[in-house]
Amino acid sequence: MKTAWLAVLLVAWLALAPAGARAQAANGVARIERLQDGIAVARPERLRLQPESAWTSTGEPHQLAGAQHGSGWWRLHALSAQEARLLLVYHPYSARLTVLAPPDYRPQRQSIFDRALDGGHSRRALAFAWPDTTQPVYIGVEDARYPLQVAVRSPQDFSVEDYGHVRVLWLSLGILIGVSLVTLLFWVQLRERVYLMFATTMALQMLYVLLAYGDAYALSVLAWLAPLGVAGIWFIATSSTIVTVLFLLDFAELRPRAPRLSAALSIVGAVLPAALLGALMVSGVLPGADRSWFPPIGNALLLAANALAMITLAVVWLRGGRQAGFVLIAWVPLVFVSTARTLQLASGQPLNRWLEYGLPLMQAFAAVVLVLGLAHRMRMFQRERDAAKQDAEHDGLTGVLNRAGMMRRLDQAIADSRHRRLPLSVLFLDLDHFKRINDTHGHAIGDACLCAVTETIEEEMQPEQKLGRTGGEEFLLLLPGSARRHARDLAERIRREVEGRCARVRGAPVALTLSIGVVECQAQDGATSLLQRADEAMYQAKHEGRNRVVVLDGTGVRELAEPVTS
Ligand code: GH3
Ligand code: MG
Ligand code: MG
Repeated sequence: MKTAWLAVLLVAWLALAPAGARAQAANGVARIERLQDGIAVARPERLRLQPESAWTSTGEPHQLAGAQHGSGWWRLHALSAQEARLLLVYHPYSARLTVLAPPDYRPQRQSIFDRALDGGHSRRALAFAWPDTTQPVYIGVEDARYPLQVAVRSPQDFSVEDYGHVRVLWLSLGILIGVSLVTLLFWVQLRERVYLMFATTMALQMLYVLLAYGDAYALSVLAWLAPLGVAGIWFIATSSTIVTVLFLLDFAELRPRAPRLSAALSIVGAVLPAALLGALMVSGVLPGADRSWFPPIGNALLLAANALAMITLAVVWLRGGRQAGFVLIAWVPLVFVSTARTLQLASGQPLNRWLEYGLPLMQAFAAVVLVLGLAHRMRMFQRERDAAKQDAEHDGLTGVLNRAGMMRRLDQAIADSRHRRLPLSVLFLDLDHFKRINDTHGHAIGDACLCAVTETIEEEMQPEQKLGRTGGEEFLLLLPGSARRHARDLAERIRREVEGRCARVRGAPVALTLSIGVVECQAQDGATSLLQRADEAMYQAKHEGRNRVVVLDGTGVRELAEPVTS
């Protein structure tokens, strides 16, 4: 977790450091003038007939600022007269442009939604030929959501710049594609909803970046979204918010740890955006419906959902939710970068490299951190599973195997001994007159006796031997690789040790002793017949006076018995 936070600090530093040092590159524009509001230009050819007094200098030679309702006309003069220039309009997003350039001043219309744009560059900028830069160009803008950045560059410079953009963008998208695919495959195998939600979240975020940057419309698989225009981008952005919020609620286990905040987050981040999407779809069906109400409400909901998600995650993290910690590490830089990017664009300032590519890069970073979070989640499940398995197979009082665990080991040991042609012996151990000890000294001392016997047996055991408590005061000891004679010697040692060391337990004169039955696994034996003979051997030891070892051969005949008097 600490390493991850260090990574966040490093990323934040990288994001902020170049911003201060960055110098605005010369953009080749000498002057931008705006046509006064209120002058309607139904026919762009008439623009050149407007009197000089209709044009006012904007004083901002790098942006088309001061538009009313995202629309207007501008006139640009190049810095120097050079040949073969391109007029570039960056990050057009929703804007639809009409450019009239010399020599013929024929209107050229472009937007990122056009299917037939020049495929030689990405859609980060719309490019218009400006062959004679001694003459101004006219730019008509419709539906812009923020002031647009402009520049005049040579086609070569633009190619270099654009290639750099494509490299960074697709590096991030490649990571996102890889992570989505891997988590999708995890879902296919594991069928756990959180993987599917993760894959969908990543895919929708990737789609949003591709749409907002315009490159989606150049891909044949996504070009069908172009007729939807900016409403298609809103649709994907809002769907992405909804799926992301649902994913966070699930992945970071927000509901059980912060129920009220989670309920609020579900409403602000999922229910209300879903209602908004419904309204958008209805307005899409109605001819000529106004949709300008969507962005302010959509953005307000997005901001509120982001803020609420951060608060909920922080609360859950402080309450010990490790998954929430991972999400915070993944999400804080993403929210930081996307907010900074939106503010920068809205203020009409050019984006520095970190704001330009911060969104896809931080999405890739978030994807990687969240994969780490998923791996951590898996490790926790593994631990829980191991603990459950340990509990299911072990005795709570003595810590040795319980009956179920012992039976599994016994089946395994019989199969192994057959396969490896090695002997296998079994000791059946039962405490003598244990009921009496309980009755005399109480159950607490009885329990302590069970633990004392267990410890004594364990001290005599080898690592490959397995001890289990198969009944109240009955134990089974498996001895893989041991023949009857060796088993009998061990049984005798254990009997003697218990007799010697467990005469007193916790100060009580319990005089603990064991009756032990010893048998060796025969070719025809299964677990049941083997245990039956071991049980018989132990009962014979009881009948012969307890505190002794009885060995039965494969036919149930007693052998090698050495009665011991206590
Ligand atoms: P024998 O020598 O014939 O084996 O006599 P015994 O009294 O040991 O055998 P019996 O089967 O009559 O009694 C077993 C006793 O073990 C009965 C029960 O009170 C006790 N017991 C079983 N489980 C536990 C336990 O978990 N803790 C304690 N303290 N006593 C237990
Ligand atoms: Mg007993
Ligand atoms: Mg018993």
